[in-house]
Amino acid sequence: MRRTVSIFGSTGSIGCNTVELLLLQGGAKIYDVKVVTGARNIQLLAEQAVLLNADMAVTADESRLETLIEALAGTGIVATAGSEALRDAAMTKVDWVMSAIVGSAGLTPTLEMAKQASVLALANKESLVCAGELIKATCAKSGCMLVPVDSEHCAIYQALAGGKQGDISRIILTASGGPFLDWTPEQMANATLEQAMAHPNWDMGQRISIDSATMFNKALEVIEAHQLFDVSATQIEVVVHPQSIVHSMIEYNDYSVIAQLAAPDMRGAIGFALNWPERQPLPIEQLDFGTMSRLDFATPDEIRFPALRLARRVLEIGGLAGAVFNAAKESALDRFISGDIGFLDMARLVETVLENLHVKAGQSSSLDGLEAVMTFDREARTMGQNWMPK
Ligand code: NDP
Repeated sequence: MRRTVSIFGSTGSIGCNTVELLLLQGGAKIYDVKVVTGARNIQLLAEQAVLLNADMAVTADESRLETLIEALAGTGIVATAGSEALRDAAMTKVDWVMSAIVGSAGLTPTLEMAKQASVLALANKESLVCAGELIKATCAKSGCMLVPVDSEHCAIYQALAGGKQGDISRIILTASGGPFLDWTPEQMANATLEQAMAHPNWDMGQRISIDSATMFNKALEVIEAHQLFDVSATQIEVVVHPQSIVHSMIEYNDYSVIAQLAAPDMRGAIGFALNWPERQPLPIEQLDFGTMSRLDFATPDEIRFPALRLARRVLEIGGLAGAVFNAAKESALDRFISGDIGFLDMARLVETVLENLHVKAGQSSSLDGLEAVMTFDREARTMGQNWMPK
């Protein structure tokens, strides 16, 4: 019997790589594709739906439904649109689902996926940051296996084959350092959108590329690691590793360190999640240790990259501080992209919003339900939109 799969966010960077791997591994002959989703890129969404012979294509953008219907005319593929349609599609029972919508828009569908899927390949780290307890409790109840797609967490997941979770002494998350690793604060203050998007190693979507430049992406990953591997803030260390070859490491209580290494190519982590618990050859570059001259590691500069300090603050506050942090970060990012605030203002905005809401957020939990999470999300976003640089 063919394996049933869905891809949420199929038109994005992670989504396109997932589609490519599904096609390489036999496409519709092997996989019974139920749902593909996108938002603005309707032509690509329709092409993917046809290539994979999907049952349904969903766009989050209701104003583009007519275009999607036209693009799929005569194919028999159902077209729907809007956030309710996205949520309904996420209720489709499948063997494997990729959660790769960007931002907190991915939270509601991911929660539904956790109820229905046998394996949830999770790229949308924001859902764990905003509602980690709720997602984990949902998976535990339904029996859904959560396999992380973020390369660092996928590396930790693989390194866990070397020991028990309870014997972890430290998790060492590697960070490329992004495009501004060697920039002065003055240069960073004037960084442009194009400069912030120019990631030295990884080819990713616009938002995560800028989050890598601020290290907000790494901050989200610290919180994600805490949620996934049940480790405290003091057990999570970030090291700058500019080559992005060592994807992350676990130090066990006997001080043995188990690392996972591979070329910086997201098809590695996506392919691991797709084939889990088996392994299959993937179209990624093999490492050549003979020509690899060096692997560098350094302590990150938290003065220039305050996001890491803020991540620890989020874990200290607990409760729904992650939802506040993520929403503030998303609103800061929107404002930087629109040219409204400078690069270094993003961290200032996030810190102000986090400190304004920390008491209330600390007293709540994602187990209070999705509405509680969304309330903090909205409040933090509004504060972020109204924040003024000094
Ligand atoms: P992209 O921006 O490339 O793609 C995002 C996807 O989400 C697209 O399919 C997009 O549709 C869709 N989308 C955008 N807005 C909405 C919305 N409001 N509602 C529903 N769907 C929407 O993102 P990435 O692929 O880079 O990232 C996806 C997720 O994976 C993020 O959570 C990111 O943090 C995580 N991740 C990404 C990595 C990478 O290498 N890119 C690495 C590790 C994690 P459309 O394009 O049609 O508008």
